[in-house]
Amino acid sequence: MGVVDMFSLVGKKAFVTGGAQGIGKSAALAFAEAGADVAIVDLDMGKAEAAVVELRSRGVRSLAVKCDVTNPADVDAMIARVVDEFGTIDIAFNNAGICINENAETMSFESWKKVIDINLTGIFLTARAAGRVMIGKRRGAIINTASMSGHIVNQPQPQCAYNASKAGVIMLTKSLAVEWAPYGVRVNCISPGYIGTAMTLKAAQWIPSWEAATPQKRMGKPEELTSALVYLASDSAGFTTGTDLVIDGAFTCV
Ligand code: NDP
Repeated sequence: MGVVDMFSLVGKKAFVTGGAQGIGKSAALAFAEAGADVAIVDLDMGKAEAAVVELRSRGVRSLAVKCDVTNPADVDAMIARVVDEFGTIDIAFNNAGICINENAETMSFESWKKVIDINLTGIFLTARAAGRVMIGKRRGAIINTASMSGHIVNQPQPQCAYNASKAGVIMLTKSLAVEWAPYGVRVNCISPGYIGTAMTLKAAQWIPSWEAATPQKRMGKPEELTSALVYLASDSAGFTTGTDLVIDGAFTCV
């Protein structure tokens, strides 16, 4: 098999949560370019529909599904809708996430809960629902978005809930990989360093210090994650499960 075919996603059916913008949208475009049909799952249907228009303009079968990943009924309905439209699910990119910067000692219960609910429980719910489809057919690739924040404590901004949620995503990924290995379902995660998206750009005051702390002296771009995501989604990653791929310009090395 040639190198291009190795990474082919032709015929595969995917969904991407948080797919309307940022890392999720970039991944959706890459999955589509590799041949997959892609559902954009997000909260804001205006942005999700715009991403779908972009995908369709490239000849890709796509749909937008409104879903709050913290709501189990929403998640189950989203999976049913994707299966109804595409026939099955081969690739689940569980990527929706938020960050709230509050000092631990004054952080509200609501802020803590919101971050954990979206970043950790949301990934469990979407992975569980996609996993049920994949276990049924003994095949599938689940990719979760963790973060280098699951490995290190970011500075100077306070974000204990975010860091804890992402460490949880890494261990959840490993746990699901082990539980579902007998069913042919692979579960991996990526741990990006600082990437230029709405999430980081809204905290622009910290960008110079983040860049200074990164050995490559810059933030990454969403497109710099997509080759890894296509690999993890593809059959060429057949023996790759339970791994966390750190893509951070060497931030966590120092
Ligand atoms: P963005 O804010 O650009 O995108 C996140 C998307 O998730 C938005 O479209 C957002 O919708 C959506 N979303 C938020 N809450 C929910 C929810 N409850 N249900 C469904 N969708 C939701 O951020 P990024 O692209 O940067 O982040 C994507 C992932 O990458 C996150 O998990 C983030 O933690 C992770 N990450 C990001 C890094 C970075 O430096 N940017 C570094 C490491 C990890 P809306 O805007 O309408 O709220």
